[in-house]
Amino acid sequence: MEAYLKISYLNDFIFCPLSIYFHQLYGELMNRMYYDECQINGKAAHAAIDEQRYSTHKNILQGIDVYSDEYKLCGKIDIFDMDKGILTERKKHIETIYDGYIFQLYAQYFCLKEMGYNIKQIRFYSSDDNKVYPQNVPENNPVMMEKFQSTIKAIQSFDVENFLPANKSKCENCIYIDFCDRTLA
Ligand code: SF4
Repeated sequence: MEAYLKISYLNDFIFCPLSIYFHQLYGELMNRMYYDECQINGKAAHAAIDEQRYSTHKNILQGIDVYSDEYKLCGKIDIFDMDKGILTERKKHIETIYDGYIFQLYAQYFCLKEMGYNIKQIRFYSSDDNKVYPQNVPENNPVMMEKFQSTIKAIQSFDVENFLPANKSKCENCIYIDFCDRTLA
């Protein structure tokens, strides 16, 4: 049985691999029930698309469960406009576009692609200031694509027992500081 990674954990892993542990990656994701849930959601999503029964706005997919067998990812997309082929991830406020943000968008992209959609554009939307930040699709950004793939591999082979943090300032800003036995802060 292979573990499936929640799309939302990609950003956490970059902050600190151990934070995923606290999110129960190695509990929940290795749990058969969760694996089954991913599989079921993925299959249900495929079925729903086949039958064209998503959303009352029939050309907009919002918050649907997605699944990639190739990357062993599952989670939710934010908004996908099927007519325009635009995948958008909304955030309350964007000051910096971190790698983790982009990896989450890539994950959504690959899940949708595997489900048969044609995605022409990917982008972020900052709602506080109404700004749009278009991004290259992964195929047009080999450097970021390589980082995305190596991050997924690093998560899959992460050795929680032997991990030692190296960045004190991250620990000082970590929400898990009170639970973590390896904090540097
Ligand atoms: S306190 Fe430090 S080592 Fe522990 S999870 Fe947070 S960032 Fe990682």
